[in-house]
Amino acid sequence: MELEAAARSDGGRVRTRNEDAYLLRPEKRLFAVADGMGGHQAGHLASRLAVDTLDAEVETRHADVRSLADRLVLAARAANRVILERANAERGTEGMGTTLTALALAADRAAIAHIGDSRAYRLRNGTLAQLTHDHTWVQGQVAAGRLSPDDVRGHPYANVLSRVLGMEDIEDADRLLIDVIPGDVFLLCSDGLTTMLEDDVIADILASDVPVAERASALIDAANARGGVDNITAVVVRIA
Ligand code: CA
Repeated sequence: MELEAAARSDGGRVRTRNEDAYLLRPEKRLFAVADGMGGHQAGHLASRLAVDTLDAEVETRHADVRSLADRLVLAARAANRVILERANAERGTEGMGTTLTALALAADRAAIAHIGDSRAYRLRNGTLAQLTHDHTWVQGQVAAGRLSPDDVRGHPYANVLSRVLGMEDIEDADRLLIDVIPGDVFLLCSDGLTTMLEDDVIADILASDVPVAERASALIDAANARGGVDNITAVVVRIA
């Protein structure tokens, strides 16, 4: 399987710091986005610790997709421990946390693990599918039938996460196994992208016939043009 991958991250037009981080390791077919939170530099530290731990813990060679999924989930568990230990040891980092959405590609399948509200999408034949479910309070209300999906966008509690790395006794990351065919385009992104852009805008940009680095840049530019109220990160992977 050949692939083309690129990432872009931008602070946006409002925030003074960029607390997002990404992992771009095409040689390992391993990719991730993390969106950190916490005061001072702590959010940046948490997201960096998450992607670095993922990179260090996940060996992808000779792994089938099921063991890849297991390794991603175990790496998320390890990242949670690393973040908690650091938060306990270092003044000013108490309570820091981060999302983590990770993608590992095997021969003709992909494994995804995720915690929080950074998302994974797949564009296939022009159709965009959101692969992950946000771990937010409002999504929990939708699942319970107390809110309709239309109520979520712009909801005052839309950003309240129900699961995030950096918590004691956290549930494991969700895992997904999906098939992969040539032409598929994967997007991993932070909520600074998805709160600014509707799915049809994201689909149009991902489907454009330019190098993936330009598609990632176009996503960032579009989110900034809509206001750029949060940090924006996009990892784009095209299967050749
Ligand atoms: Ca964010």
